[in-house]
Amino acid sequence: MRSAKKILVTGGAGFIGSHLCEALLSQGNEVYALDNLSTGCLANIENCLLSPHFHFKQADVCDGVPFDEAFDWICHFASPASPDAYRQNPIGTIRVNTEGTSLLLEYARHCQAKVLLASTSEVYGDPEEHPQRENYWGYVNSYGERACYDEGKRCAEALCYAYTHTYGLQVQIIRIFNTYGPRMQATDGRVICNFLEQIVRGEALSIYGSGEQTRSFQYIDDLISAIMLILSREVCTSPMNIGNPEECSIIELAQLLSELTGTKLGFKYRPMPLDDPRRRCPDISLAQKTLGWKPVVSLRDGLLKVILS
Ligand code: NAD
Ligand code: UDP
Repeated sequence: MRSAKKILVTGGAGFIGSHLCEALLSQGNEVYALDNLSTGCLANIENCLLSPHFHFKQADVCDGVPFDEAFDWICHFASPASPDAYRQNPIGTIRVNTEGTSLLLEYARHCQAKVLLASTSEVYGDPEEHPQRENYWGYVNSYGERACYDEGKRCAEALCYAYTHTYGLQVQIIRIFNTYGPRMQATDGRVICNFLEQIVRGEALSIYGSGEQTRSFQYIDDLISAIMLILSREVCTSPMNIGNPEECSIIELAQLLSELTGTKLGFKYRPMPLDDPRRRCPDISLAQKTLGWKPVVSLRDGLLKVILS
């Protein structure tokens, strides 16, 4: 990457945002981050804050950009991401993904920045096609408790399309599949966090529904390496899945974590949350072809890294 690009990261104090800020700083960029600290925290960016090339403001995306800079890239990561977090704040979730995205696209238009939008596999809803390719339109409930997030992200994608086709703005949408790693918020309700917390407390692992539903978990370093390739090569193409196609059921995940931690705590079954997708696995051939990228950290190795961190 050309050194000293000016890059804005919204949600920069969150799990993914903070790893991205660190990677950008390590490559000599000038990094501007904003975050309202609703689900992120300053501890995530304590290393970044030591750098003279890191500029942080506590602010809400919906109040506009609190910097007066001509950015090369605007990376929009601000949004609650865990189902518990967005169920607790559905209106804020819709706003940051719609009004927030709209404000950022306007800002990008005026300073001619490129935009990277953190979208999600949730745009596919409870998919009827498997694995999910980018040209699958999804099966999403627009009037339910996951709708604030799923439809918020779908609207963000539609806004990006509109700005690209109206103003020629250069945008890359990435549809991120479940990502885990150090700095996940231990109490945010996502499955790996819950299981690890329960293991520490010596409690049975909470399985929602039958536990046969699947997810494909990606280690944070693999996601960051894909993002860094996009930014360095200035890739602005159609929406792209970024995930690890190693699919496993929630029961298999619980068994693997029990094995890796040497625990036998058993399972406690809980009702399945509403609209919980039954299967999720990315087709990553577009990212492989465009970026020459594929994930390199297996689920077993990634979980071990988290356990040992
Ligand atoms: P996170 O909750 O750790 O990070 C989100 C950050 O955004 C937090 O620091 C939060 O305080 C901030 N934020 C939220 N609303 C804001 C607002 N209105 N103004 C300013 N800051 C705000 O979650 P994460 O897992 O790091 O997710 C980051 C992004 O990646 C999100 O957009 C999410 O939708 C997307 N994503 C994440 C995953 C995943 O598995 N982690 C999967 C798909 C997509
Ligand atoms: N899940 C579970 N036990 C938990 C938390 C989650 O069985 O303690 C299930 C949840 O129902 C879903 C999957 O694990 O099927 C992944 O949930 P998560 O909240 O991590 O992310 P999602 O992919 O649903 O956004």
